[in-house]
Amino acid sequence: MLKGKNAIVTGSTSGIGLAIAHSLAAEGCNVLLNGFSDKAAIDAEIKELQQKYSVQVDYSPADMSKAADIAGMISQCERQFGSVDVLVNNAGIQFTAPVDQFPADKWDAIIAINLSASFHAIKAALPGMQKRKYGRIVNIASVHGLVASVNKAAYVAAKHGLVGLTKVVALENGQNGITCQAICPGWVHTPLVQKQIEDNAKKEGISPDDAAAKMLGDKMAIKRFIQPEQIGGLVVFLCSDTASMMTGEPVIIDGGWTAE
Ligand code: NAD
Repeated sequence: MLKGKNAIVTGSTSGIGLAIAHSLAAEGCNVLLNGFSDKAAIDAEIKELQQKYSVQVDYSPADMSKAADIAGMISQCERQFGSVDVLVNNAGIQFTAPVDQFPADKWDAIIAINLSASFHAIKAALPGMQKRKYGRIVNIASVHGLVASVNKAAYVAAKHGLVGLTKVVALENGQNGITCQAICPGWVHTPLVQKQIEDNAKKEGISPDDAAAKMLGDKMAIKRFIQPEQIGGLVVFLCSDTASMMTGEPVIIDGGWTAE
């Protein structure tokens, strides 16, 4: 379905981004990877995607907290593959603390990586998409783009901002063949969530399994973690013709979290 199209997936060396890269490549899409990891792991990932799906794969080391790096990543994709047809803004970080104790540098980093990076990437990718009259922009937001939890001031603010940015980009580009969506997942089992499981286990003096069960029990009607591949499948769906009339809306995949 996406054969010959070119995608960037930010933060695709781990978790959800890595699964999205696999799902897009499985549909024949060339992929520019991004994110932090050691060189051997990145080389292995590139090789696996190339061999498994027979697509072109490259890597950008762009730091999503730096606007100039982000512009360079978009140029690299256009130069190397010819265009950016699909942009998945996925890179993200987390830090938890009550607002009155929230370190200012953590606030700045979360806003930069979880929100401003998407603005910079979209701004740089749009001119090419507008010229070609085609683009699929998928922002990986969160249920925390729609509702709040304690101790996550920066994350919740950034993800609400990302849902707002999604709506504006959709409105401005409805006539340009470009859709812009925000995916809002509940708990997905990735290294980012594993750290929260371990932190909670330590804080409450319980086992990681019990901490994970409590996190699910507190929030999700379906008491299972979402699998990263399910987010990958959803991104592919949002790039399909079936979804071509879906734009500017949060697409929720949360096991019932926000139903309550
Ligand atoms: P993860 O920690 O497994 O992966 C994060 C990725 O972002 C990694 O590839 C990392 O290298 C990259 N990254 C971090 N800082 C970066 C920077 N400055 N520049 C470039 N890359 C950077 O996390 P994940 O759980 O896969 O999360 C991916 C996205 O999904 C995030 O935006 C997160 O907020 C969102 N999300 C996750 C969950 C969940 O339950 N895991 C739920 C909702 C939304």
